[in-house]
Amino acid sequence: MTDIKASRGAKASHGECGGIPATRRAGTHPMRRLAHPARAGLAPGFPCPPRACNFPLRGSELPTTSFPRKRESRSPFHKIAMDSRLRGNDGRKGGHPMKFAAALAALLLATLPLPAAHAAETPRLSPARTAAEANLVDVRSRVPDIREDIKYAGSDNFVGRPVDGYHAPKCLLHPPAADALARVERALRAQGYRLEIWDCYRPARAVADFVRWAHDLADTRTKAAHYPHLDKSKLLGDYIAPVSGHSRGSTLDLDLLRCDARGEHCAPLDMGTGFDYFDPRANTDTPGLSAEQRANRARLREAMERAGFKNYPMEWWHYTYQPEPTPDTLYDVPVQ
Ligand SMILES: [Zn+2]
Repeated sequence: MTDIKASRGAKASHGECGGIPATRRAGTHPMRRLAHPARAGLAPGFPCPPRACNFPLRGSELPTTSFPRKRESRSPFHKIAMDSRLRGNDGRKGGHPMKFAAALAALLLATLPLPAAHAAETPRLSPARTAAEANLVDVRSRVPDIREDIKYAGSDNFVGRPVDGYHAPKCLLHPPAADALARVERALRAQGYRLEIWDCYRPARAVADFVRWAHDLADTRTKAAHYPHLDKSKLLGDYIAPVSGHSRGSTLDLDLLRCDARGEHCAPLDMGTGFDYFDPRANTDTPGLSAEQRANRARLREAMERAGFKNYPMEWWHYTYQPEPTPDTLYDVPVQ
């Protein structure tokens, strides 16, 4: 707890958001046409660095110093950073998803620093409107009784209410990630353990909802449970990123349960923190854990790594399947 600042520094180089999706072609995809701030319905005065307004951008115009591929986000909580100026015309509940996506794309570019020496890639927002179009599958199509507690579909989360875009408590992933997760579950069950899934694919609009919440400094209902050692105003700035890797469809958050000899009566292992605990203690290898907590985190990590998942070191519960099937694409289809 005494080294939050130092920990933030570490986060800046490892944030889960990494791999800002790329638009490889300077083509005429409708998302790209819409993404010009004027077409996206952004308010007059929207900050418009020259290159941010020059859609379409090529990857070579964007820096890796700010959003390198494979880099994790500044946020230990992999939530989106959405400028407040976009509120009301994009991420709003019920808003047109294409308009939201366009505004998001504009934001991503507007918030990127001006060109650096070496190339990076531009985000691409998928035009998919349904999970099927996005090639996202329900994990329960692989493991019908996998344990789920999809936090953002309910109120037991840091926002304290259901999050925009979660219409059902489901875990959606791209097929390779879902298949790999099924392998993890099978292996763990043979050892008397089971997974409990907290979040999987996350719509871009949900991440924008997190940011709206973060701007509401008066709402501190979840402080004790999720950010006891931080002022809420610090969550934006030091703990924000413009996108979440979850929106690419191959990342999930999960816990590990210990079950009885019949594989029933499962209980969560002591991992040292709960989900979305905004604190360095959530770092996977943080000092100060008990031997048991360290061993429990290691057991989860080893099981996941054997199936191809990689842990985000700032959050013991966060894993991304690699190689990601669509590392260059964000989705904004609702979970339903
Ligand atoms: Zn996560």
